[in-house]
Amino acid sequence: MMQLILILSGAGLFLFFIYAVVVSLREHEIFAAKRFFVGVWLFSLPFFVVAFVSFTGKIFVFSFLIVTLLTGILLFLVPYKRNRAYRQAIPAARIDERDTMFSRNELVPGTDNFKDYYLQNPDKKVRDDRFRRNAGLLQRGTTQYNSFYFASADASFETIAALRTFVNGTVAEKKIPVDAQRVSNYLKNWSKKLGAVDCGITELQDYHIYSTGGRGERYGQKFVKSHRFALAFTVEMDHKMVQTAPAGTMVMESGQQYLESGRIALQVAKFIRSLGYEARAHIDGNYEVVCPLVARAAGLGEIGRMGLLMTPKLGPRVRIAVVTTNLPLITDMPLHDYSVIDACMQCKKCADVCPTNAISFNDRAIITGSLRWQINQESCFTFWTIAGTDCGRCISVCPYSHPDNNLHNLVRFGMHNSSSFRKVALKMDDVFYGRKPSPKPVPDGFK
Ligand code: SF4
Ligand code: SF4
Repeated sequence: MMQLILILSGAGLFLFFIYAVVVSLREHEIFAAKRFFVGVWLFSLPFFVVAFVSFTGKIFVFSFLIVTLLTGILLFLVPYKRNRAYRQAIPAARIDERDTMFSRNELVPGTDNFKDYYLQNPDKKVRDDRFRRNAGLLQRGTTQYNSFYFASADASFETIAALRTFVNGTVAEKKIPVDAQRVSNYLKNWSKKLGAVDCGITELQDYHIYSTGGRGERYGQKFVKSHRFALAFTVEMDHKMVQTAPAGTMVMESGQQYLESGRIALQVAKFIRSLGYEARAHIDGNYEVVCPLVARAAGLGEIGRMGLLMTPKLGPRVRIAVVTTNLPLITDMPLHDYSVIDACMQCKKCADVCPTNAISFNDRAIITGSLRWQINQESCFTFWTIAGTDCGRCISVCPYSHPDNNLHNLVRFGMHNSSSFRKVALKMDDVFYGRKPSPKPVPDGFK
């Protein structure tokens, strides 16, 4: 009996680590594959040795191995500190879009908007002059300049810009009566068919809406809540492309997925207007809402250390678009997932790799009335204008960014389930993938 238990345990561990090696090779994670290969022998061999070799004290070694294995399984399976009383950080005041780096980047010296903004925010002028001295996003003379990648990204952003005229449109005169539950289910399923990985619905709150527009002709425009509901969509950014961050292939992927999420939002908004209800799409460069806050309220994720939405299956490796509407809908619950906040409190990997120290190593602090992390957006954006890309190193190394497959989902389940497992898994992520992994080569076909 003792021998059978040992053989089965050893075989289980052997197969698990072999599976991890295969998955890592498929993901081009050679460093991880080598470490998992060591794990094959390190973890399974002791069970086989004890099963087949006779020695004194065998029963003690047998007990030690089985107790260790069972402890590991219990750590993984037993829920522990899963959802401590955790309240999501709600901004005390609405966010002004003029303060975002994209808006500040659009200010042209000598224009009325430029004068207006720095008259009201003289402290920001010195910092912003620093990024204005650099070559800029997608420009020649940047450290990551690549004519093909930058032209591809530019093509995606230009296409999105051309689509902005469609965020609003004529509402059909005849209103078709709808069942809120049925149309909510339909829209979720249809958006996934259109390419979204997830879709959630929330009741729109004042803090979801920018107080004032900051980009293009919307500079200075006051935004008011005119719709009751919001649908948020996430689309996946390709893992292999993100792993190359901060190379040009990263911004190429960002542009493509902003376009994809925006396209889905435009189609959904048009669909709703055809049913006779108001709907507006919020797409890159034309948002009236703060997408991560809407998506969090719609149950699509939490907001972590780097200030981005952390989704359950892809972590921060997503782009978001939103549709606001008066179509009657059934809302989803926020996740209220304390495990992500707890993981971010321990992990700090994104802060470690950030080339400009823009991500805080500290615990959450009260910022504009709510307990959260805030990155140094000036440092981050200034680096973008030097690199020419949107960097993305933080997204690429996050332990939640691993691909959506059985191996990583198993780990995600354990991390969600138990705080003890979370601690071990975060350490193991460093062991298997490196604390500061180097950017990966660009995928075949884009070299
Ligand atoms: S890298 Fe770590 S600290 Fe940063 S967002 Fe991801 S889990 Fe949180
Ligand atoms: S995008 Fe780059 S510079 Fe910005 S916070 Fe992330 S790692 Fe830092």
